[in-house]
Amino acid sequence: MSGSYALLGMHQSELDAVRGRIRDFLATDRDRFGWRPAVDSWLSRWDADFSLRLGEAGLLGLTIPESYGGRGSEHLQRYVVTEELLAQGAPVAAHWVADRQVAPTLLRFGTEEQKTRILPQIASGRFYSAIGMSEHGAGSDLAAVKTKATRADGGWVINGTKVWTSGAHHADMVVVLARTSPADPEARHKGFSQFLVPTDAAGVGISPIELLSGEHHFNEVAFTDVFVPDSEVLGEIGNGWHQVTAELSYERSGPERLLSTMPLLLAVIGWLSSDDVSPSPSVTAAVGDLGARVISLRQLSTAVARALEAGESPANQAALVKDLGTRFEQESVDLVARLLDDVEAETGWRPTPEIAGLLRDARLHQALFTLRGGTNEVLRGVVARGLGLR
Ligand SMILES: Cc1cc2nc3c(=O)[nH]c(=O)nc-3n(C[C@H](O)[C@H](O)[C@H](O)COP(=O)(O)OP(=O)(O)OC[C@H]3O[C@@H](n4cnc5c(N)ncnc54)[C@H](O)[C@@H]3O)c2cc1C
Repeated sequence: MSGSYALLGMHQSELDAVRGRIRDFLATDRDRFGWRPAVDSWLSRWDADFSLRLGEAGLLGLTIPESYGGRGSEHLQRYVVTEELLAQGAPVAAHWVADRQVAPTLLRFGTEEQKTRILPQIASGRFYSAIGMSEHGAGSDLAAVKTKATRADGGWVINGTKVWTSGAHHADMVVVLARTSPADPEARHKGFSQFLVPTDAAGVGISPIELLSGEHHFNEVAFTDVFVPDSEVLGEIGNGWHQVTAELSYERSGPERLLSTMPLLLAVIGWLSSDDVSPSPSVTAAVGDLGARVISLRQLSTAVARALEAGESPANQAALVKDLGTRFEQESVDLVARLLDDVEAETGWRPTPEIAGLLRDARLHQALFTLRGGTNEVLRGVVARGLGLR
């Protein structure tokens, strides 16, 4: 991927240099360690050693200040690195949530002790986190969360069950959203707080939820009388809703909302461009259409990155980008399948085993794209409210 960020106020040469570094790193690392590009690698490819190597190369924790062990770079530099990692299908799932979401949340709301303890570990690719927001009956309607934290001597006692908790079975910590005061029907978003809960704390039970294929990415996580000391409260008691909303802009707007199927698209384009295959004009036009859509979505996504860089909270824009980007991801799977059928019907050429494997995985993950991070239907409601239409 390449493109101009000049309008985003950063020198193109700096971004090109970062892109060059991550590309070199990925080429060398892949040659040496033999990982294969994967679709949706930010959910499905957990490789702690890869995260360590990325950290050692100075390509993790980019937006974490140097005083906390990070690189002190700008959000756009992280954006470029993320784009390359995803487009090349690198195994990034281990550090994903911690680097994308937990680090900026800690920087904004964490105590000095939490930042000093956790951020350097995130930047070095040694600390993995899961997000415990959703529950049975509280997904789109997150304010229906029932997990409760009750005041105890020196801390809080958590009881409740979270669901779809990605990566909790490998993670060091779950960031738990819980009620700390009773629900008020007039102000449903009040009375929430966030807690940093180690996965090995007494009373934490993690059970797998497998995909139809048998893949294990997410979990149900039960908290039974889990004691969390005051030092592990994230931000302010009662401010949980505001904190979670801020966090979701990071979760929704990144390049992972349009590039989850990119390794498949790149593999197909590479195959169609090879000497062995000469696609018809209609196939070429279909590929061109896919490329044009990626480019325009990327412009939208970088506009949100610029707003985050400027310290704004672009919640509506992030929701819009996620809706458009994830629908593209979903449609891209059907478009590629149709394109490959057309090529085979025209010429008899069948896709390589690598492409067939990527397509199969993309099909399996396709339904997830528009659900995770808040469903698209619900995000349209967020956008409508933001525009004053509801
Ligand atoms: C791959 C994946 C990873 C995930 N990882 C995590 C994680 O790590 N941590 C975490 O906390 N959660 C995680 N989730 C959960 C995710 O946030 C929820 O699945 C999502 O918010 C939807 O909630 P739900 O599944 O309860 O569906 P529901 O809220 O029950 O929605 C069901 C359907 O009803 C529609 N709907 C609901 N309300 C409305 C409305 N008001 N208007 C119109 N339509 C509506 C929805 O769009 C959807 O189609 C993950 C989900 C997936 C798929």
